[in-house]
Amino acid sequence: YALSRKELTNERLERLRVEADNRAKDRFLAHLSHELRTPLTSIMGYTDLLLSRKELDNIKPELTIINNNSLHLLNLLNDVLDLSKIKANTLSLSKEWLSLNSFLVDLQSLFQMAARKKNLCFSITARGPLPDKIYNDTTRMRQVLTNFIYNAIKFTDEGSIKVELELKHTQLHVYIKDTGIGIPPENLKRIFKPFEQVQNTTTKTNEGAGLGLAISSALIELLGGGLTVESALGQGSLFSFYVDILNEHTSPSEIQ
Ligand code: ADP
Repeated sequence: YALSRKELTNERLERLRVEADNRAKDRFLAHLSHELRTPLTSIMGYTDLLLSRKELDNIKPELTIINNNSLHLLNLLNDVLDLSKIKANTLSLSKEWLSLNSFLVDLQSLFQMAARKKNLCFSITARGPLPDKIYNDTTRMRQVLTNFIYNAIKFTDEGSIKVELELKHTQLHVYIKDTGIGIPPENLKRIFKPFEQVQNTTTKTNEGAGLGLAISSALIELLGGGLTVESALGQGSLFSFYVDILNEHTSPSEIQ
């Protein structure tokens, strides 16, 4: 059926209106989460101060609960802020050279403890030679990797989390493999949408708002990379992504 001119115009107007609404909603969310962060940071600062006072040791468990929940809230606000910036195209990257080794040592120490608490083996290894230095927004790369590894630990009850890195020409490929609950094939696309969580007995009890993967996939795209996921229910998941790690002034031979 051919749409009449009038119908076409109405359809376009409606689309423009929806887009404008969405932009307003993103701006509102960005503004709100930014404003909420300031008082929250103050609450966290004072709770830290109280936690350091010996005479308040008797209420340490309660203060720790306040602290943990504040941290959880702060992470949520940061995620909402990131997502709205990504949608509004206002998230700026800051690329720099960084030692890959120190980047990986930091990651190892960050997750070693969390994995050990669940009796899981956690390893970071190289597939072949890796460059000494990488050029990218390493804060955002850390955020992406942290999301994947944190999920891998969260959704795995026994076995291992293996992170592997591989240099392919000018790209760093990263594989995060777990032996966890897996994701049903029909949900593989859905999990990258904001606030989407696959409901099953294990995930219901896990904290999280379902924003991590939406942010990670958008960040990887912004970093000029790509992402794939493979999963088998009850056996585990493999998240793979790559990013470019060179700038326009370096030749691939310099990092090999
Ligand atoms: P969150 O972890 O806060 O729920 P994410 O966006 O990081 O949000 O993940 C969305 C959903 O994808 C999770 O709720 C979970 O159902 C599924 N998921 C992500 N990573 C894994 C994994 N490694 N193993 C099993 N399920 C996963």
